Amino acid sequence: MRTITRVSEYRDARKKLDGAVGFVPTMGYLHEGHLELVRWARRENNNVVVSIFVNPTQFGPGEDFEKYPRDPDRDLALLENEKVDIVLYPQPDEVYPAGFNTWVEVLGITERLEGKVRPGHFKGVATVVAKLFNIVNPDCAYFGQKDAQQVAVIQKMVSDLNMDLRVIVVPTVREPDGLAMSSRNTYLNKVERQAALVLWRSLNLARDLHAGGESKADSIKKQMEALIGQEPLAAIDYVSIADITSLEEVDCMNKACLVSLAVRIGRTRLIDNIILGDQ
Ligand code: AMP
Repeated sequence: MRTITRVSEYRDARKKLDGAVGFVPTMGYLHEGHLELVRWARRENNNVVVSIFVNPTQFGPGEDFEKYPRDPDRDLALLENEKVDIVLYPQPDEVYPAGFNTWVEVLGITERLEGKVRPGHFKGVATVVAKLFNIVNPDCAYFGQKDAQQVAVIQKMVSDLNMDLRVIVVPTVREPDGLAMSSRNTYLNKVERQAALVLWRSLNLARDLHAGGESKADSIKKQMEALIGQEPLAAIDYVSIADITSLEEVDCMNKACLVSLAVRIGRTRLIDNIILGDQ
């Protein structure tokens, strides 16, 4: 496994790679969710490239950029174990040199859900992912369903800008009790960790209600909100049932829907989602 920090060095290495390149962009502090993406990439490509970059432009003022967890040595050991070929550790001054002023903005779907609560977030995400695609030059890029709106934004960007790669979506990896794995779970203390299960419980409630024949989105959302309301440490940012492509809220769940939510547990903001209905 090679660790590369400079773009020019990566480009030289890329020229020597034979066969398909699978790419997994991450912000590090890796867990089994990230490693699942890496394993998919490993199975489907001759070469696997993983990037680790905590992207400042996708954090809003007052968000957790400074205290976002970092552990490069542990990350590198985990990636070595998964037989990754190249880890790209770009330097912030090379990603955003002085005077950097070109942005990629996906309109429409970024105005809802996460984009509404975190203005500018997806502008930072789309810009850094476009830059990483330009640098890495992958055949396939792997993203987690855990960040469903991010997946929709990347797919739209790739399609709208004719980017020549395939986006592969990997199902959410969960802890044994159902909590979606996330680098931010590390912020939770013991009591909050228990309270955080309310996200998964509310998604299961939606699944059960839907399976029982309920198709009114409003009714399901209200019952999810009521369940979350019973958890004193939880504060809802949003509970949404939306069309999986446009991410617009639906009234009637007569086709595949994205049920998603963002909930603050103490000072930690968690997101999760499931898809209900046939895709
Ligand atoms: P991050 O380091 O949080 O930017 O995540 C890097 C990639 O890992 C993104 O595509 C995420 O959607 C994905 N990811 C994060 N958590 C999970 C999870 N629990 N299951 C599957 N993929 C995940």
